[in-house]
Amino acid sequence: MTLGTRDLPAHGIDSAGWFPGPRAEHAAWLRDALARSLDTWSAWRRDAGAGDPSVWPDGQLPDDQHEQIDAALQTLARRLSGETATFSPHYAGHMVSDASMPALLGHVLATLHNPNNTSKEVSRVGTQIEAEAIAMLARMIGFDPAHARGHMTSCGTIANFEAVWRARFRLDHWLSLALWLAETQGERLDVFAAAHMGWPRYHTLRERHAPPEDALRAASAVAGNPADTFRRISRASGREYLGPVVMVPENKHFSWRKAANVFGLGEEAFRGVGLDAQGRLCLKALEHEVEKATAQGRPVLAAVSVAGATETGNFDPVDGVCDLMERWRRERGWRIWHHVDAAYGGFFASTLGAGATALSDVAASALAAIRRVDSITIDPHKLGYTPYACGAFLVRDAQRYAVSSFAAPYLERAHVSDDLWSATLEGSRTSAGAAAVWMTGTTIGFTPDGFGRILENAVEARRAIMHAAMKACPDLRLLDPCDTNIACFTVARTGEPLSVVNAGSEALYEASVQGGRFTLSKTHFPLSSHAGQITRHVEQWGGDFDADGLTVLRCVFMNPYLERETMRAHVVEDMVTLLSGAAPC
Ligand SMILES: *Cc1c(COP(=O)(O)O)cnc(C)c1O
Repeated sequence: MTLGTRDLPAHGIDSAGWFPGPRAEHAAWLRDALARSLDTWSAWRRDAGAGDPSVWPDGQLPDDQHEQIDAALQTLARRLSGETATFSPHYAGHMVSDASMPALLGHVLATLHNPNNTSKEVSRVGTQIEAEAIAMLARMIGFDPAHARGHMTSCGTIANFEAVWRARFRLDHWLSLALWLAETQGERLDVFAAAHMGWPRYHTLRERHAPPEDALRAASAVAGNPADTFRRISRASGREYLGPVVMVPENKHFSWRKAANVFGLGEEAFRGVGLDAQGRLCLKALEHEVEKATAQGRPVLAAVSVAGATETGNFDPVDGVCDLMERWRRERGWRIWHHVDAAYGGFFASTLGAGATALSDVAASALAAIRRVDSITIDPHKLGYTPYACGAFLVRDAQRYAVSSFAAPYLERAHVSDDLWSATLEGSRTSAGAAAVWMTGTTIGFTPDGFGRILENAVEARRAIMHAAMKACPDLRLLDPCDTNIACFTVARTGEPLSVVNAGSEALYEASVQGGRFTLSKTHFPLSSHAGQITRHVEQWGGDFDADGLTVLRCVFMNPYLERETMRAHVVEDMVTLLSGAAPC
């Protein structure tokens, strides 16, 4: 098999052509492009510094520094040559692959010019590029780019925090106004209804009753003293107030546990919503949890659904959650914040709009519903193929973007300045990620035949590779469902007890880590959260249920070179060699 074969897929688009190549085939062109970037950067410096005297007027540059830098650079390069080759098609371990050339060049060029994107005063161009990059992402996921707001973050975890921060800001406003009103009017406070009243009602009440600014501040659990506010809410509502809850599917990413910790809500406040037999958020369970919260007088700070679970790449019924939210809004007047954690799967939205997609129907419906949610996390450094560290947080409109502003007085809380620094959790932020996204959108395009093609190829590669591997290795059992380009599986002989299969997964994982040609990862699903899905999986070979969970091998097929048939065949060979090593297929 030759790796150089131009066996283009049937649609004839050479998506792999956007990437450096597994053998650095584009190295010469990339070196030229980088050299040209350095040239324009030098010219810019010479131009901007034209009025300044030279530091070395005789043109004699000291070379001590050059030698020291060279030596250190060589050491670093030598050490990095031992780094994990995540660009390789044989790497299917985690959500990382090659960076695209446009993203790489955008990242470098922005870093050279001015990586500080903190405010318009410091960054004249970077802030504009960021706004344009956010608009590109907004259009891709179905938000109206004219109204959507957002910013780049250093990762998906921070983007998830941004959602909690804003949802809390909103809920706190509604609840503190209602608390003040109940106290001044001597009426009983309905905590749940108040905390989800919506901005129109809030503004009406505020205009009608004109509460003093400092009274609202004092009634706020965020701007005032939370213990005092809770005590007052308890008194006004006639029952002990225990604070808001956040609904997160039980397959939750650990970033949600961190959020519970950082925002001081307590882990108890993060309610795990049960999963159905397919491992997706169960709508009935969500309804049940919300009803329970209502009965307990605990407002719902936010409900989270996941578009592309970290472990399986699978989608929650985002559309179903949107329907529930709309029903509650219509029938009960509740506005509950719906955040979709699409850190992994958000870029699949680029595949929509051109008829059939390789994605599952559940995934396609979920992606089409993202336009209806309040906020979204999406990670360009995962399926956006940009260099790290690059996440993004977006909301549907400016009102949803509002957050405690540390520059403006309390009265102007809803005001968001054009300078993002006061409205982002992070302080100084880089423009490199925005430039990488901007370059990607400008060249490849977040459209079905641009970026969508790359991701369709990834899903097709997963399907083809797993199909071929299962043919070679009949004991390979795929975990169902498989919405996207991640495959979880076990190798299990008929009747084999679950504990033995789990041990087999561990052994295969170890073999992969110990220098196999094919790199995969593993994960564990506890029975407590994934009973339905595990039961269905074990039924495939009729094994005994003698373990409290399922350990699976996990492959993330996102390498862009897997577009080529020959490359897929090559990878299958190494994968089957690995699988047959520990447990003969
Ligand atoms: C990766 C991921 C995150 C966190 O993103 P980081 O960029 O690693 O911080 C959050 N949620 C989901 C579903 C993810 O897959």
